[in-house]
Amino acid sequence: MGKVRRTRKPAPDGWELIEPTLEELDGKMREAETENHEGKRKVESLWPIFKIHHQRSRYIFDLYYKRKAISKELLDFCLKENIADKNLMAKWKKQGYENLCCLRCIQTRDTNFGTNCICRVPKDKLEEGKIVECVHCGCRGCSG
Ligand SMILES: [Zn+2]
Ligand SMILES: [Zn+2]
Repeated sequence: MGKVRRTRKPAPDGWELIEPTLEELDGKMREAETENHEGKRKVESLWPIFKIHHQRSRYIFDLYYKRKAISKELLDFCLKENIADKNLMAKWKKQGYENLCCLRCIQTRDTNFGTNCICRVPKDKLEEGKIVECVHCGCRGCSG
């Protein structure tokens, strides 16, 4: 039995096509969680986890909305099983949020400045040569 799924309900058609990729990401997630974090800042050790979370939702998002390769039923199944992040995917449909890295980065109360995270600042509005590295998830810029 696959480790990705959290319930035993039968999966909709097409599941067998996406399962290998999801299992692979799941394996990476477990690796990231158990990795030795010595010498790293605490926030940094969470970055790979955010990244994989993002990848998994993006995979499902592209399959459904861009490639139209999976059914609505399978999409709904993935949302219900928390394989893909419903809230994050809802943002990706909005203009300017197509590449949003994670939901925390648009929660203004989490930043020091009461604004969006630095990674949400458009490149042309940043000081020249400034390197963006978001503290939440390690994002290098995801606006536009
Ligand atoms: Zn970002
Ligand atoms: Zn950010």
